Amino acid sequence: MSVGRIAGAAAMGNLGWVRVRCKLCGTWILITKEEYYVCPNCEKRFNATFCAPCAKKIHYRCPYCRSELKFA
Ligand SMILES: [Zn+2]
Ligand SMILES: [Zn+2]
Repeated sequence: MSVGRIAGAAAMGNLGWVRVRCKLCGTWILITKEEYYVCPNCEKRFNATFCAPCAKKIHYRCPYCRSELKFA
């Protein structure tokens, strides 16, 4: 898939391409396309979102509050 096309769709405000950023490695996650995890507590406070490899690395526990991450 082309990165340029994704950026173009996001610029047009297409909600099908909403992206979030992994709090640990800073990688962009397409929430409609990729697996990711959120902390149910920190998600509301500061959008604690983690990509699948990072979630695995931290054993599916939030590094901030130690809650179990939720598959999103
Ligand atoms: Zn990550
Ligand atoms: Zn948390």
